[in-house]
Amino acid sequence: MQKITMIKVATMLVLSLAFTTAATAQSLKITHGQDRTAARGPESAYTGVGIAEFMFRNGAESSMTMAEISFEPGSRTVWHNHPAGQYLIITSGVGWVQAKGEKKRVVKAGDVVWTPPGVFHWHGATSRQQMKHLAVWEFVNGSGGEVGQHVTDEEYNSPAAAE
Ligand code: MN
Repeated sequence: MQKITMIKVATMLVLSLAFTTAATAQSLKITHGQDRTAARGPESAYTGVGIAEFMFRNGAESSMTMAEISFEPGSRTVWHNHPAGQYLIITSGVGWVQAKGEKKRVVKAGDVVWTPPGVFHWHGATSRQQMKHLAVWEFVNGSGGEVGQHVTDEEYNSPAAAE
């Protein structure tokens, strides 16, 4: 009985030492807003003006990417998907999101949208309001997703689902 307790204590000591070493091996890294560049998204990925500012990108630190995207009224992404899904956190304005085969949905500040892996969708402002959201998604094998067709005006102006 006592032997087991001693083994437990020894194991805990080794584990705590390992965690201490891991914690001191790397330090915090802070980036600053004034060092970032916001840029208009390419026409291959947007209809209209979508300004993207990346907080962090898939790379050496992590496979996660996060950007704040500001959509002018009428602007939206093209149809696209993400290999590990995507969270959208609406921070201002009113927008529309739509998954392939479903009606578009109205989103407002405070709403959080989960787009499941592989599901084609688009996100953007409404035709009369601006919309801003944070987007968080993960890369898989170097890919953040597949890009499809532009959202036609007919698709964009289709009726929204009842809330
Ligand atoms: Mn998306």
